[in-house]
Amino acid sequence: MEKEKIECPKCQWEPDGNAYWTCHCGHTWNTFDTQGRCPKCLKIHQQTQCPACSQWSLHEDWYIDLRGWTLKWEEFEKSKN
Ligand SMILES: [Zn+2]
Ligand SMILES: [Zn+2]
Repeated sequence: MEKEKIECPKCQWEPDGNAYWTCHCGHTWNTFDTQGRCPKCLKIHQQTQCPACSQWSLHEDWYIDLRGWTLKWEEFEKSKN
């Protein structure tokens, strides 16, 4: 299977596998290992901050492929009405 392409929607920084993200519970981990869910307290973080540009984006917006799918789905929803 092809590796998912992930990058910051704001500056195109690509996660390098390091643990840059800290949950409010104090746990630090790589949020892309768990798709935004803290492995310690299991809270789902819908917004992900970029360690490179410090801007917040929706976690799903980081997944390039998923972004395309969401867009198609929105168009489909619109065309129904
Ligand atoms: Zn960024
Ligand atoms: Zn946590």
